Amino acid sequence: MDFVKKHIVKPGESVNLKSVRTEPDGPFEGKEEAREYVEETIQKLRALQYRLYVEGKQSLLIVLQAPDAAGKDGLIRKTLGRMNPQGVRSYPFKVPTPIEQAHDFLWRVHQCTPAAGQISIFNRSHYEDVLVVRVEDLVPKRVWSKRYEIINQFESLLAERGTRILKFYLHISPKEQLERFKERLDYPEKHWKLNVGDYEARDRWPKYLEAYEDVFKKCSTKDAPWFIIPADKKWYRDAAVASIVHETLQEMDPQLPTVQVDLDEIRRLYERELAEMDND
Ligand code: AMP
Ligand code: MG
Repeated sequence: MDFVKKHIVKPGESVNLKSVRTEPDGPFEGKEEAREYVEETIQKLRALQYRLYVEGKQSLLIVLQAPDAAGKDGLIRKTLGRMNPQGVRSYPFKVPTPIEQAHDFLWRVHQCTPAAGQISIFNRSHYEDVLVVRVEDLVPKRVWSKRYEIINQFESLLAERGTRILKFYLHISPKEQLERFKERLDYPEKHWKLNVGDYEARDRWPKYLEAYEDVFKKCSTKDAPWFIIPADKKWYRDAAVASIVHETLQEMDPQLPTVQVDLDEIRRLYERELAEMDND
């Protein structure tokens, strides 16, 4: 299945999130088949990531946005985080610190963009500045409404430098979210994730969907497309994202450098050392 084609938001496309499924409709029979697919895809992904790292020219930025408990952490822990840590870093963006607040909204983000050869994963991102900030009324409309264009320019600056950008929205239903909140209550090791604000935000669910719809319409571009991933099933979420990242790396087609050294000479040196060791 072509996950890119299925989940991409075309530039300028209007999305009505309420009509987008949160449950998968194929291609996997179920969990087991999807998990196998993820395993195979991760192996291919790692091989391409190795080339990206060695090539040292292009980079990849993966942006994750979603309601609470939609699975950003799980996706990183179980799937994306299995790439080689030499070449990948993840950055969680929380409520801005006083120092971050004292700068423009892209300041903290720009520092975390991937260097050539690297992959950055954003767990939340600059999009919070047109999402939570808008819905919770943290800055006036005249401020946040200018940010879509600023974000597009920022992302095209990154693209110009050789950074591919993939932006994923993990789409869950309010019902699934509540079930996962229940899990957090049931497992003591998840209690740190509990907060009253997450429950309050449920009242504003439609406002968040509206804010996301604006983001998709204004900020899904050729250089930096948005993907809406049905995320009620964790195994589908992982498979779809892994597949899209893999396909993108394939398209980027990173190349190992052409060999500069004289291989015959290196082989001679090796044989000589080997012979000397045998003589000792
Ligand atoms: P979590 O990712 O669940 O650990 O929570 C991080 C919290 O930080 C979320 O409630 C986000 O909405 C919030 N957050 C992230 N970025 C911003 C921002 N730019 N302005 C205000 N709140 C933010
Ligand atoms: Mg949270």
